[in-house]
Amino acid sequence: MTIQAALDQQRELESFLDTHPEVSIDFDLVQREVRSGYSRPLLVLDLEIVRQKYRRFREAMPRVTPHYAVKANPDERILRALDHEGCNFEVASIAELDLLLGLSIESDRIYYSNPVKSRAFIRYAAEKGLRWFAFDSADELIKISEIVPDAKLYLRFDTPNIGSDWPLAGKFGAKQRDIEGILDVAVEHEADVCGLTFHVGSQCRNVENWRHAIGLSKKIFDMMRDKGLRAEMLNIGGGYPVRLTRPIPSVEYIGEVVSDALNDISDDISICAEPGRFMVSDAAYFVCQVIGTQTKGDERWLYLDAGVFGGLMECTQGIQYEIGADRKDSALAPWFVAGPSCDSVDMLPREQMLPADTQEGDFIFFPKAGAYTTVYANEFNGFPLPEVRVINE
Ligand SMILES: *Cc1c(COP(=O)(O)O)cnc(C)c1O
Repeated sequence: MTIQAALDQQRELESFLDTHPEVSIDFDLVQREVRSGYSRPLLVLDLEIVRQKYRRFREAMPRVTPHYAVKANPDERILRALDHEGCNFEVASIAELDLLLGLSIESDRIYYSNPVKSRAFIRYAAEKGLRWFAFDSADELIKISEIVPDAKLYLRFDTPNIGSDWPLAGKFGAKQRDIEGILDVAVEHEADVCGLTFHVGSQCRNVENWRHAIGLSKKIFDMMRDKGLRAEMLNIGGGYPVRLTRPIPSVEYIGEVVSDALNDISDDISICAEPGRFMVSDAAYFVCQVIGTQTKGDERWLYLDAGVFGGLMECTQGIQYEIGADRKDSALAPWFVAGPSCDSVDMLPREQMLPADTQEGDFIFFPKAGAYTTVYANEFNGFPLPEVRVINE
């Protein structure tokens, strides 16, 4: 097969896979926000899109109760909007928990899914009324049950993250061969291990990961029952992708695969999920300004007022945004795009196609940047955190 034929075939396959309808803020609205005042990197966030994404998720997987993963974007206005829609939550830390409690969100709607927690954090969460705790080792199981003997525990197991743009396997999840031993420890300690969870990897573009992991869950539940443990809850985690530069399966398609796989999971087991990126990514545009341009040999370079430390951290590890400019009619050219700090890691990993006549003062736009941007931003080297401006509150 020629290279061209192979590329054509790949494109055809990708267009078949790409069933995701576009969702994004109207660009005119974003430009209007920028014109109305810009002093530092800006995230324009549309809460109506967050609400729509929540409803779409619910419709796609009727049996699944979503718990929003707060880490994707902990902006209070997002949390409030999702709470209002009836969404539950997932936290990893006390600060995230306090945020939710501060909004009067009831503790029984919050899951603690971080598989390794300090004793102080476990104690605090239990005092506040949390009961559901994740773990992925016998050590953590013993730690939690010492502090919270009546905790409801769910085991995170390792599962393939093939085809996920931001894999999470490796650091998290009990290995297959360790699961039986961990369940024996649960029985020995009379711990109420009654749930399972997994994460297929963030921005997961391969639906087979869900099918496979739900199939494994069925086997582990059977093993739990054999050991006298109750099977009450399956948490199918996060990973639902959004349309960046590569094709993705739609949430409706993922929902079909998930619902089909869940037919093997008995009806008395409640099912939840922890979408993070999916809920908020489409809802925001990240806007930066060019603070300088230069030519090095034959390379074009531009420097933005926000880079890896200012919100574009995910770009360093495989997430690639579309990137846009105001100059619609100009010819495009490859640019090296760097952030403002004096650190050489502060740049996007490959050249970006931007107008050849881009100049200092131009605005650069990153659509679908509502997740894992502002929350990663820090003030390294003295550059300010992004402003978050909400529309359709
Ligand atoms: C990060 C995280 C999520 C959310 O993942 P997304 O890929 O953003 O959907 C869900 N659950 C846990 C335990 C996480 O750590």
